[in-house]
Amino acid sequence: MSGRDFILCTKLKYNALPSRSRCGRGRVTDRLCRAGCAQNETTGHILQACPRTHGMRVRRHDAIVNYTIRGLEQRGFVVAKEPMFNTAEGRKKPDLVATRGDEAFIIDAQVVSDCEPLRRAHRRKVEKYGDLTPIVSAQFGVQTIIPMSLTLNWRGVWSSDSAQALVENRLLRKSDLSVISSRVSVGGVA
Ligand SMILES: [Zn+2]
Repeated sequence: MSGRDFILCTKLKYNALPSRSRCGRGRVTDRLCRAGCAQNETTGHILQACPRTHGMRVRRHDAIVNYTIRGLEQRGFVVAKEPMFNTAEGRKKPDLVATRGDEAFIIDAQVVSDCEPLRRAHRRKVEKYGDLTPIVSAQFGVQTIIPMSLTLNWRGVWSSDSAQALVENRLLRKSDLSVISSRVSVGGVA
């Protein structure tokens, strides 16, 4: 990370970037988003909801998924990227299914707001893909299917449940956690 990025990422983490809401503290001033949204321009809005940053949000997400895929493949996993499954609740498309031996891991990544508890965001994702277990088992010919989430908030803070499960199952190394956290911050700064 360059020195400039480091400073900006630190400001991002502590919500010190100059959004209209931040700059307008203690003053009566226009705080609405400069992209024309009927929402106050907070860092959370800019990073998580504003249509103007949609493209960069997708790139931030894809960057952490692609980094994860490269690591999994280096460690001997066979990775299916964005496989589509038809279920009773409609189509579901997790970011990836990684198989090794008789195990398959369904992994979906998310960068969430800092309003929702990280643990709940992680659990919501795991439950969403839990019912894919029989379909994945049949399609990939493996017995053990484990749904996982890769969950951080926009400040780059990991859900401890998500991080622990990924490391314990040797899907990520501990050092990968900081790389991914940095990538989320850099994506936010961008
Ligand atoms: Zn906006």
